[in-house]
Amino acid sequence: MKPFLEYFRCPEECAPFVVPPSIQKDEGYFKFGSDTICFGRASEVLCSKDPHQDLEDVAPNIRIGGSLCRLPFDPAKVVDDVRNERYVNGYHKSVTTPGFRRSARRVYSYLRPFVPLSVRRHLQRAHVRGWKEIGFPDWPVDCTVDKIFEKLLMLSLRTLQFQAIPFIWFWPEGYSSCAIMTHDVETAVGRDFCSQLMTIDDLHGIKSAFQIVPEERYQVSAAFLAEIRNRGFEINVHDLNHDGNLFDDREQYLRRVARINEYGRQFEASGFRSGVLYRKPEWYEALEFSYDMSIPNVAHLEAQRGGCCTVMPFFIGKILELPLTTTQDYALFHLLGDYSLELWMRQIRMITQRHGLVSCIAHPDYLMEKRARRSYESLLDFMVYIRSAENLWLTLPSEVNRWWRQRAAMQLVRQGGTWHIEGPGKENARIAWATLDGDRLVYSLDNQPSNSVPTKARSGTAV
Ligand SMILES: [Zn+2]
Repeated sequence: MKPFLEYFRCPEECAPFVVPPSIQKDEGYFKFGSDTICFGRASEVLCSKDPHQDLEDVAPNIRIGGSLCRLPFDPAKVVDDVRNERYVNGYHKSVTTPGFRRSARRVYSYLRPFVPLSVRRHLQRAHVRGWKEIGFPDWPVDCTVDKIFEKLLMLSLRTLQFQAIPFIWFWPEGYSSCAIMTHDVETAVGRDFCSQLMTIDDLHGIKSAFQIVPEERYQVSAAFLAEIRNRGFEINVHDLNHDGNLFDDREQYLRRVARINEYGRQFEASGFRSGVLYRKPEWYEALEFSYDMSIPNVAHLEAQRGGCCTVMPFFIGKILELPLTTTQDYALFHLLGDYSLELWMRQIRMITQRHGLVSCIAHPDYLMEKRARRSYESLLDFMVYIRSAENLWLTLPSEVNRWWRQRAAMQLVRQGGTWHIEGPGKENARIAWATLDGDRLVYSLDNQPSNSVPTKARSGTAV
């Protein structure tokens, strides 16, 4: 139950789950309650290869009794498979064949700086055709992982018959949710626009992160890096040369990663993002970075499809993944032809509803055009509005990384009938309480009930 405990940081006794030892069945899709599609193995139901089918639900086979909750599947395994996009094997066959990958790569990365935008747009639109028919993950934001954990917490409340379960709140200072703005610098033209982009961000009171390609694409001068740093913005490494071949071959990957790690030290960067969001999480252990930002939540419009299906950070070995949870500016403007704020607003609302991490990519290369810049500025206005209206933590990726690691090391301990948080950074952490309101899970902050877990929570501040 480690992933569940890591997600909520609740006491171990609040995970009363028993899972089947091993399930000798084929993997596939099944339902966990009416609104959540899972991928993996489950006993007692038939798992389907096609998420569009009428899927069988494991919920009626969950058995609660004797302070234990027996599940017909292993949620830790399902979450691990979904976060690491293992459902993509044997799925979307038509779009993940080597031929597709090769041509998509050419179109998405190699050609990008040299071919006129109109040609690229045309080719890429052809590649994403059919994206609306993809049955899993959910568009425009997928919360499969988050929904699984929420359902488990509800089951825990019912099994243990506790009025409230304490956990370490997701964000510091009781912030309701979190947001980061990131800029991938693709070409020399984009590089030369960074200064102006920092001014635009500053006018909105937002500091953002710039991902820099260290080789081949453009010159990276010390003065360029110093300006970003001195103005309080963040520098991360963006691929090595952005040719789209980083994960092609293991030996080549390791050679490139050695150089990428060296640039990380040179740039004093603790974060990484691959070119074109190509990814292979099982190779991440070679990256000497504290966090990665290459895995989209739902990747229907990306060259490599899939998605990690969560709006929360999570660990891949020692690296913290900060998933990309909104549609990139390029895809929105040039593949969907949409300059309105509608999709972004919808995504942000869906993420903040679950108290998740809103993360955005806007490229300086594409924001020089007036119409695109107007859309981007409206996005910033909207984020600033949410910041004050809903207590959103608008911050830098490195700060999210720092906080999430601190939270992961904290413990909830009971002393004299009350709960306390122990560990470095505890002064910024808050205890939250999960309660049931009928069929709904409700979180409240602080306002600790008078004693231990199995007591009634006082009405707290709804978040
Ligand atoms: Zn890029």
